[in-house]
Amino acid sequence: MLRGRLHDLLVRLVLGMKYGSQASVAFGAGHHHPNGWCGDHPHGHRYTVTVTWQREGYPETDHDEWVLVRQRILDLALELKNRELDKMLLPTVPNVFGMASFFMERLSINVPVTRVEVREDDDPVATIDRD
Ligand SMILES: [Zn+2]
Repeated sequence: MLRGRLHDLLVRLVLGMKYGSQASVAFGAGHHHPNGWCGDHPHGHRYTVTVTWQREGYPETDHDEWVLVRQRILDLALELKNRELDKMLLPTVPNVFGMASFFMERLSINVPVTRVEVREDDDPVATIDRD
């Protein structure tokens, strides 16, 4: 046991590896245009959120952690899925930037997130980077 942990520690000290891990989720959600030129009816978009976070150790043995982080991303996506972003993303703006900050703020509580990228219908992209 101690031997195993000591071995892990030595390997981490020697290799000192830090690397990025990434996961993407896609889902549909609706919003009103902020200036109201579409009228009162919300319309939908397909959003793709890609999250990058920092890891240490062996990429090969960190699959369990990857699965956990991906589940957190999926849980957040489920909160927004098929909802009106105007209500869900308060106090931020219901666009790709508001959605990127939503994921960044919520995930950063537990995960060393370095980047969140949001695409709306594959086109407009918002990216937030954090050291
Ligand atoms: Zn729109």
